[in-house]
Amino acid sequence: MLNPATGAPYESWQELFASSDYILVLIMFSAAAVLLVMPIFYGIKSYKRFYPRALRPEYMLYVGQMSYYQRLSPLEQKRFAIRCQIFINTKTFIPRGGKGFVLVPEMIAKIAASAVEISFGFPKMGFEHFSRILIYPTDYYSRITRQYHKGEVNVRGMIVLSWSSFQDGYAKDDDGINLAIHEMAHALKLENRIENGDYQFLNAQLMKALRDEFQRLSTLQSPAESTLIRAYALTNIHEFFAVLCENFFERPSALQHEQPQLYSIISRLLMQNPLAQNEMSIAPSNSYAMSDFSGPIKRN
Ligand SMILES: [Zn+2]
Repeated sequence: MLNPATGAPYESWQELFASSDYILVLIMFSAAAVLLVMPIFYGIKSYKRFYPRALRPEYMLYVGQMSYYQRLSPLEQKRFAIRCQIFINTKTFIPRGGKGFVLVPEMIAKIAASAVEISFGFPKMGFEHFSRILIYPTDYYSRITRQYHKGEVNVRGMIVLSWSSFQDGYAKDDDGINLAIHEMAHALKLENRIENGDYQFLNAQLMKALRDEFQRLSTLQSPAESTLIRAYALTNIHEFFAVLCENFFERPSALQHEQPQLYSIISRLLMQNPLAQNEMSIAPSNSYAMSDFSGPIKRN
C-alpha cells in the first residue's frame, strides 16, 4: 500500500492513520469488522440451531395434538417440544409429490414429533445419521422392488414416508399399526450401529434378550400365538423390533398383558414406560450411556 503523499509504502499503522487516506482506512476497518463479526454471527446461528429455546408456534400447534405429547408432564412437554425443534433445525424435509404437493408445518411438526417420541428416553439422541426426510403424498412406487411402499429408511441417511400412511397411523392410535413409529424404529436401530455421536446407545444385553425373544416366537409352531405382534414381525429381527415398537406405543397395556417379558425388554431398551404413572418422569439429562442406565423413564 503506497502513501499518496510520499509515493512510498506505509511503514507503520500510525503513518497510515496519520495520512488522509480515509478510504483505505475505512476499507481496512470494514474488513476487520467482517472478519470479527462473521464467526460470531455463524456461531450464534449454529448455537440457536442446536439449542433452541422453544418450539416455533406454527409447529407447536400440531405437536400439541399428538396423544403422546398430551400424556407428558408439563416439564417433559417443554423438553419434548425443544427436541422437536432441534430435529426440525437439523433435518431437511423434502416433498416428493410434484408441483401440487407442498410441505406444510403440520408434516414437519408431526414427523419430528414421531422421531422424538421413540427416542425420548435418550436425551441427546438426534438421529444424527439421518439428514433428509423425504415425504410422498401417498404410497409411492419403488423401481428397485417394483412395489408400492409406505415408507423406508435408507442407509445413506434418508427417512422416506408416505404422508397419507403417516396420518393413518396416528388417526387410529390403538391398533398397533403406525408407519412413523415403524420407520423411526428402523432408523433408531440403524443409528445405534453407525459410529457417530449416537453410537451404541441401545443396551447390548437387552438387544440380545430381544433377539432371544425373537427366536422363541419364530420357532413357535403357531406364530399366531400372539394376537398383537403381526406375522410380518417375524420376517427378521429388524421388523420384529419395529413392529414391537408400534405396539409398545399404541397399545402398551395389551402388550404388557400378553407379552410381559417383551414389554419389559422394550421398555428398558427405549428407556421409557408409557404405563407408569405418578412417578418421577425425567430421563437422565447428562448422558444416555448405558453405564448410567437405571431404568425406564416414566410418563404420566
Ligand atoms: Zn419395516
